[in-house]
Amino acid sequence: MKSYFVACCTALLFSACASGGEATSGLDAVPTDRNTLIERVSFEPRPDNLGVVVRIHADNPVSSTSPIRWTGPGTMEFSLAGAGLHHRYRTDLAKSPVSEYTLTESPTGIDVRLTFAREDVDARIKGDPVSNDVLLAVGITTGGIASTIAAAIRNANESPPPPDLSTVVSPTPGRWDREPAANPTGRWTLDTVVIDAGHGGEDEGAVGYGGVLEKDIVLPVSMKIGNELERRLGVEVIYTRTDDRFVPLAQRGHIANESGGKLFVSIHTNAAPDRRARGTETFFLGMHKTDAARNVMERENQVVELENDKTRYAEFDQSQLITQVLAQSAYMSHSQMLASLIQNEFDQRPENVNRGVKQAGFYVLWSASMPAVLVELGFLTNPKEAAWMRSEQGQAELAEAVVRAIESFETSYAGAIGAGPGTGGHNGAAAGRRD
Ligand SMILES: [Zn+2]
Repeated sequence: MKSYFVACCTALLFSACASGGEATSGLDAVPTDRNTLIERVSFEPRPDNLGVVVRIHADNPVSSTSPIRWTGPGTMEFSLAGAGLHHRYRTDLAKSPVSEYTLTESPTGIDVRLTFAREDVDARIKGDPVSNDVLLAVGITTGGIASTIAAAIRNANESPPPPDLSTVVSPTPGRWDREPAANPTGRWTLDTVVIDAGHGGEDEGAVGYGGVLEKDIVLPVSMKIGNELERRLGVEVIYTRTDDRFVPLAQRGHIANESGGKLFVSIHTNAAPDRRARGTETFFLGMHKTDAARNVMERENQVVELENDKTRYAEFDQSQLITQVLAQSAYMSHSQMLASLIQNEFDQRPENVNRGVKQAGFYVLWSASMPAVLVELGFLTNPKEAAWMRSEQGQAELAEAVVRAIESFETSYAGAIGAGPGTGGHNGAAAGRRD
């Protein structure tokens, strides 16, 4: 049975075998006085190439970052105090509009220099609230939508409340407009899926009708999903938990990233004061547009009160969310598509009440650098739905719906990048319409 332990092993293998760049210093050369080591620099581009988030992966918090200094047209630098380069430091290929970058150790830390392929760029440094990474959000400042993005990057730091970014980040349903985040060395394949059973241990989640606990429903459903995915798709399944234990929210995304996961699916059940509330809904990361979506988000996020280190969530707010939405924008359309496929599958059951695909700022979705969704299987506070979710048949059917959706997702993706059954058909045409 694969679990957290497998995630760790996979991470080690990944680091040792799949290094995308050269180590720049040997083990002996790592300065011992550096309290933070930089392991990697990676790029998370917007699908429309109007910006990129540069992620500087750090093993510990960076004590301070200098302000950005623009040293010439399209060139900038800043420094990370007290940081050094890890002996496994690796560099990914720069993505537009970044053309080159270097990290150089200095007596006091690391100097980061970037060169852009154009001069109309703006950039902001942000700490990632759910990891130790430093994020550099880069936006192109010329043109209509581009200037909106640049303004959003500025506003993320300076002037909350933020503008509604829905016109910028909301993808167009049904368009496979870009190959999903691929391994730098190869094309996208669905080889690893992360299944996240919500809650666990002292975090019981929602308490439902008759005293049934959310944590006890989502675990067996998650295990059924994982077992079927392994059997039918031959993918590796990474679970964030396989028993009744507490796992901090940020740790769940970390497990997903370290395992090289290609999809992150978080399984939950809903709750409401009104016992009549019922139905299924699936979320992806974004700003909530309704009070109902906000209520679900707040309920699922409140678990951080049980965590020892709450400080890492201190920066979670609406302005921070904008930066994170930008960081994940490369995955947004795919997250939305997977959410739609899951809701469609739930709808195959006549009794299903489809509450739709929604966006909200779930902490657990923030930290996963891959298409990520959060599924609410039904209302545990509704007597009928609670009985359904407790039943063997109910759990099997709910799991089956999620599995079928992931199968469809995999097929469509393969088609969109010309490697599978869908080649040249609808998906190819959709990709070709991109302007
Ligand atoms: Zn939950």
